[in-house]
Amino acid sequence: MEKSVVDELVAIFGKEHVLTANEDMIAYSYDAAHAEIKPEAVVFATTTEQVSQLMKLAYRENIPVTPRGQGSGLSGGSIPLQQGIVLAMDRMTRVIEFDPSNRLITVEAGITTSDIDPIVAEANLFYPPDPGSVAFSTIGGNIAENAGGLRGLKYGVTKDYVQMMKVVLPQGDIVTLGSKCVKHVAGFNTEAIFVGSEGLLGIMTEVTLSLLPIPQHRESALAIFDSLDNAAQTVSDIIAAGVTPSTMEFMDNETINAIQNFKDCGLPRDAQAVLLIETDGEENSAKAEMAKIDEVVRSNNATEFSIAKTTEDRDKLFAGRRVALNALASVKPNLILEDATVMRSKLPEMVRGIIDIAERHQVKVGIFGHAGDGNLHPTFLLDMKDEDEKARTDEAVKELFQLAIDLDGTISGEHGIGLEKKPFLMNQIGGAGIKLLQDIKMTLDPKNLLNPGKMFDMPQQV
Ligand SMILES: Cc1cc2nc3c(=O)[nH]c(=O)nc-3n(C[C@H](O)[C@H](O)[C@H](O)COP(=O)(O)OP(=O)(O)OC[C@H]3O[C@@H](n4cnc5c(N)ncnc54)[C@H](O)[C@@H]3O)c2cc1C
Repeated sequence: MEKSVVDELVAIFGKEHVLTANEDMIAYSYDAAHAEIKPEAVVFATTTEQVSQLMKLAYRENIPVTPRGQGSGLSGGSIPLQQGIVLAMDRMTRVIEFDPSNRLITVEAGITTSDIDPIVAEANLFYPPDPGSVAFSTIGGNIAENAGGLRGLKYGVTKDYVQMMKVVLPQGDIVTLGSKCVKHVAGFNTEAIFVGSEGLLGIMTEVTLSLLPIPQHRESALAIFDSLDNAAQTVSDIIAAGVTPSTMEFMDNETINAIQNFKDCGLPRDAQAVLLIETDGEENSAKAEMAKIDEVVRSNNATEFSIAKTTEDRDKLFAGRRVALNALASVKPNLILEDATVMRSKLPEMVRGIIDIAERHQVKVGIFGHAGDGNLHPTFLLDMKDEDEKARTDEAVKELFQLAIDLDGTISGEHGIGLEKKPFLMNQIGGAGIKLLQDIKMTLDPKNLLNPGKMFDMPQQV
């Protein structure tokens, strides 16, 4: 990078917020999805104005800029594909305003997701979206990926809680979108375009999130099955019975054993699958819902159904689910984690299909995920240095995406497209769908400098 540009970056951000040394670039060359491309410089924003100045500089000098939260993304979104500058947002962590009477909190976008609950709990409120990465992902990253989580079944995902945001557009303009009012129809629903925009359309610097009262009571249970089919059918039947648990997580035998090898969370090693189920609300209704779930679970021949008696029991079960990905990562040198999603009624077919694909291609897969949302994480375990295994796994992944599409599902429920699923987006949304995305991108970022090369190619790149 030219010295004059580096000097300007230092003038905008301050010396302590600019990195250019080659060895410092390594930490910003990958996310949780593995790609390794080093940027030429990393800048750490502390104000919206700095982000605006950066984009004006980037536009003048034709430098690609890749926004980055904590790099926990699972689709390659924060990889600086065309090098240039990584804009790290994780030093913008201030709480701007907590407004309990309107159940709102306004924060800078780099705040860690799990830092919100301790602040709002004093007013008996909570922020419902809770991705498995809640302890390290940023709110900006959550919005850019429209992150889901363990409570998505009852409480929805990130998009359901974004009320207002300050965004720096690719050419440096600062806009405020949305409103603190519950209802707001002045103009297009523009803030929605930025939710799930994967850092391609603008940089969120401040966001106002809505909050909910903490449920009075929770019931947590573990259902154990000796058949994958029965576990998947149970998910579908619970929804069909009119019950909405707050959480319904699925883990198969491969995942259970990986977790137990990693950390003893009390999961049954011989089970083919378990469901981790939680209901919440008023004590009576949470208990009544769990009783209904008990009936459905038993009618699907569960071998055991136990309700956690103490908070410690509950925490142990959830700890197992939260380390599932780390545990699977320790089985083989590499993993490819997917998040193909189907309607809940098609979950049994999806699980059978995944097993069939894995068997045919002789690849190892662990399946876990937010089954209540139809959102599974089939996780292929492999050694990428083994070319034959890598080729078989790539083929299996391709078939998995096609299976999701054939079942009227989606290639991504929450991890986004980024680099990882870019080749498959056309099959999902078609040529006209891609053209619409390109047109929106072109309008906001005519030089294609903000996170270029992700999600889809621009016409001149094709
Ligand atoms: C162990 C583990 C568990 C996970 N569990 C879940 C889960 O349950 N549910 C789920 O949905 N995801 C999950 N994820 C994926 C990941 O944590 C989420 O996608 C998260 O939202 C990424 O946040 P981040 O701050 O790390 O963003 P990054 O990975 O740094 O960036 C993600 C994307 O957002 C863009 N971006 C980041 N900040 C901004 C900003 N301020 N403005 C504009 N664009 C921005 C980047 O350019 C990139 O395209 C998990 C990941 C791991 C490693």
